[in-house]
Amino acid sequence: MSTQETNSPPGASPAGTSPERSDFIREIVAADLRDGKHQTIVTRFPPEPNGYLHIGHAKAICIDFGVARDFGGRCNLRFDDTNPTREEQEYIDAIQEDIHWLGFDWGEHLYFASGYFEQLYEWAVYLIKAGKAYVDDLSADEIREHRGTLTEPGRNSPWRERSIEENLDLFDRMRKGEFPDGARVLRAKIDMASPNMNMRDPAMYRILHAEHPRTGAKWCVYPMYDYAHGQSDAIEGITHSLCSLEFEIHRPLYDWFIDNLPVPSRPRQIEFARLNITYTVLSKRVLLRLVNDGYVRGWNDPRMPTLAGLRRRGFPAEGIRDFVTGVGVAKADNVIEFGQLEHAVRDVLNRKAERRFAVLAPLKVVIENYPEGRVEEMDVVNNPEDPSAGSRKVPFTRELWIERDDFMEEPPAKFFRLAPGREVRLRSAYFVTCREVVKDAAGEIVELRCTYDPATRGGDSPDGRRPKATLHWISADHAMPAEVRLYDHLFSRPDPGADGDLFTDLNPDSETVLQGCMVEPSLADLPLGETVQFERLGYFCPDLDSTPGHPVFNRTLTLKDTWAKLQAQGKQNS
Ligand code: ATP
Ligand code: MG
Repeated sequence: MSTQETNSPPGASPAGTSPERSDFIREIVAADLRDGKHQTIVTRFPPEPNGYLHIGHAKAICIDFGVARDFGGRCNLRFDDTNPTREEQEYIDAIQEDIHWLGFDWGEHLYFASGYFEQLYEWAVYLIKAGKAYVDDLSADEIREHRGTLTEPGRNSPWRERSIEENLDLFDRMRKGEFPDGARVLRAKIDMASPNMNMRDPAMYRILHAEHPRTGAKWCVYPMYDYAHGQSDAIEGITHSLCSLEFEIHRPLYDWFIDNLPVPSRPRQIEFARLNITYTVLSKRVLLRLVNDGYVRGWNDPRMPTLAGLRRRGFPAEGIRDFVTGVGVAKADNVIEFGQLEHAVRDVLNRKAERRFAVLAPLKVVIENYPEGRVEEMDVVNNPEDPSAGSRKVPFTRELWIERDDFMEEPPAKFFRLAPGREVRLRSAYFVTCREVVKDAAGEIVELRCTYDPATRGGDSPDGRRPKATLHWISADHAMPAEVRLYDHLFSRPDPGADGDLFTDLNPDSETVLQGCMVEPSLADLPLGETVQFERLGYFCPDLDSTPGHPVFNRTLTLKDTWAKLQAQGKQNS
């Protein structure tokens, strides 16, 4: 499967920063500016505040804000808050936080469709007066029944030919709250025989006696998204209304409203392919159910594809932007490998994450010839990829923790780490040799007795000896116990739900919690939002659940990059 849609390599540059980058949307925008159709361009990102943003939205954000930035225009943030039963202030706040975190800013240009309710109502009255909208008394079921199917035309409602006066009176009384929810709707009078179902007299207003997060109890009729959206764009002077492909079939309706209303500008809608990722579901409806039914720790669970979840997991915003850039902007739907996202994130972390020592499954090492009570501060390099990151002091003592996996009593041929009688290097410290294995009554290994070579301080031998393995370690006197959470895909198959109920495809092992891990003391004050590499283990970051006596770390990613490997093999084979 090809995951490359444009000629820019994955992870090439943050969205829109490379001037030579182009795609079909940027070509249209460039032409419109060149032809003088617009002096400056205005885009918008229009989330509905009924959930948290996910990585699919990140694609839309990078396109909307990125195109505006590349052409010196601006991008508005507009909440499409037309359905008060599902929208909440919590989501309005979270969406703004997430867009800022991703690295984009709308400046002064924060808008709400609800800010246009009065204007939208007036325009609805305008259409009624023009004989192009009517109040329908049919029930929702009857309307559905009259709508026809993809192969059969619909039938006109018996209320379609009401007089303009009667329509004006009824719509006014709808607004005044005289009728219960669902009793009537306002519909556009277009064409019940249109092959496009969206043109078969779509609803414009419904009665909903519900409090709105911003307009409170002021309204009990609310515009439908399809009526509000295009007019909101026109009010804001949006030149290019960029959205995902599912709205293509709605475009004729949006154009019909624009053609029939005295709107101040005429936006052009351009559709692009939605982002789909293997092992991942990008639908707020499904994500909400995962949260509400307790499958995850919340919208910001590190396994969630939400921006809040990816952030908590330790994914840097830059990695997400690079990923979206690498995916590119295309017209045809496809599915991107989750590994491509991991690859972009690893690429950033490998360059930027500082290295630290942590032991997930600790095994005690006692260095018999090292003086009791002595503490040496070893200099350890923070990031071999970035000399400017400097080094830190890590205390070394007679008793240490090493990784249980780094020792085998009877090592097979290719195991080069510690074993009885064998010498290994402790990173930036000394060479040690295992002299004795101590077991408990049950035969479990509980301790290794080792000796060290004082001539190898810093991790080099004057006589040129080169142990085959270098291990990480932590002073047992200074180690900080920690909880570490490991993550795997939330769904166990690449195409969740393909065979039926997607909730049966949830991966029961998507989270593994380890207690009693040991981390180096400097990790006590690692701030939230910072991701480090635990040497030899992967990338990790502190979790929100950390408390002063009980630090919690999330594994962001392992070090293994299977996607890059597959890409390389693919190139060899082709
Ligand atoms: P969902 O389908 O997840 O519920 P939505 O489309 O209903 O999302 P909106 O808040 O309406 O969510 O979306 C805001 C913008 O984000 C829209 O312009 C939409 O085109 C875009 N968008 C949503 N999901 C994706 C995706 N997977 N890939 C690209 N763009 C997306
Ligand atoms: Mg939507």
